[in-house]
Formats: sequence, structure tokens, C-alpha cells
Amino acid sequence: MKIIENLAHIHNEISLAEKRFKRGASSVCLLAVSKTRNVDEIMAAINEGQRHFGENYCQEALEKIDAIDNPDLIWHFIGPVQSNKTSQIAHHFDWVHTIDRIKIARRLNETRPESLAALNICVQINISGEDSKAGIILDEVDDFIEELEQFKRLKVRGLMSLPAPASNFEDQKIPFSTLNQKLQKLSISRPELDTLSIGTTQDMTAAIAEGATIVRIGTALFGPRNATKQTN
Ligand SMILES: *Cc1c(COP(=O)(O)O)cnc(C)c1O
Repeated sequence: MKIIENLAHIHNEISLAEKRFKRGASSVCLLAVSKTRNVDEIMAAINEGQRHFGENYCQEALEKIDAIDNPDLIWHFIGPVQSNKTSQIAHHFDWVHTIDRIKIARRLNETRPESLAALNICVQINISGEDSKAGIILDEVDDFIEELEQFKRLKVRGLMSLPAPASNFEDQKIPFSTLNQKLQKLSISRPELDTLSIGTTQDMTAAIAEGATIVRIGTALFGPRNATKQTN
């Protein structure tokens, strides 16, 4: 299957970028974005050792998490969180990358089972300032993180962003660099902030150059997605 080849290729690209940009070996985690992919496709990646998977749609994800039923996997929610899905997300995921509202964080905190570790959270930043995009603006991050600290069942780990697409490497690096500088500043007083979730198929290398610790890759791993309408 092509997925096996693709995965090997991505691992190679990541390790080349780690060397080229003086990042530690294995400092970048590959998050396989498996939205719209079926269980067989996900299993192909699991059989090659892939452990971190990212999903955008709660209902679709829960079906696959249940069908695959593998305790070694780490599931990341990377889509918009609807308030009526917070309990299910808090029960079945290890990470949520897309926190931009206190109300959602509060509900995740209230419903995170005591039997599970605190839910890992990234604050989503709208770095390109697009009205249509999810995320808070950079100036609000300090206050937002301070507010999140009241939630004991959440563990704030860092920042996530999906900047507007840019076609060349230098332009791709600009928003990533801004995010990285912000994370570095925040982590001076909060060393537990160790995560920068940036970079997709289009801009993975630029993200690694600018400090990504998690890259979220769908297309390069599983091939192009069909543009079918999803239900949450
Ligand atoms: C779909 C998605 C990705 C993966 O994008 P590709 O271009 O397929 O690699 C990454 N991050 C988020 C938030 C996504 O929704």
C-alpha cells in the first residue's frame, strides 16, 4: 500500500529537516491526520508504527477509535469543538489542539474522567488575522492561558495554528516564527508549555525550521481527500 511508502518518506523528510535546522533528533512528532480515512487506511499506518492520529469530526472519530480499540494510540482532536460534543471528546481523546473559547475549555474540564490523565490542550491562534478562521489573536494569549489555569483536568501544552497558505518557504516561515517566539516567551514562566502544533503537508519543512514539535500531516500520508461533506 502507498501509505507505507508515504510514511517512510515523511519520516525521512522530518529527520532531514531536524538535521538541517539544528533541531534535536526525534524532536518533531508526526501527527497522522486521519479525518475521512477508513479503518483499513489507519491500520496500515498503525502497522508501520504510527501512534499519533488527528481527527476533526467527533462522530466519525468515535466510530474509528472504537473499531480500532488500541490502547497504544494517542488521539488528537484538531477540528472545531462543538459544545454538545465536549463530553465525548473529553472521554475519548488525549489531546485537543483547537481551544479558543473558555466555555469549551470549562466543559472539557468538567467532563474529563478522573480515571484519565488531564487532557492535553493547545490554544489555537488565528495568526493570519482572517475573520473566518478559528483561533484567538496573539495579543489575547497571555490572558487566555491564565484563565485556562483554573481548569485542573486540563493541561495546557502550547500553541496550535493553521496559517493562510503561502506558496514559498520564506513566506511560510513568517507566521510560524511569530508563533515560536510567542511560545518561547510564554514558556519562560511556564515550562510545561512545550508544544508548537504547526505545519501541514504544504508547509511542514518551514514549520520544522521554526520550531514545530507536532506536524499535522494528512494528504502526504494518505493521499488527497475526497471533498465530501462531514457531519460532526
Ligand atoms: C486536515 C488538517 C490537516 C492536514 O492537512 P493536509 O494538508 O492534508 O496535510 C492539518 N491540520 C488541520 C487542523 C486539519 O484540519
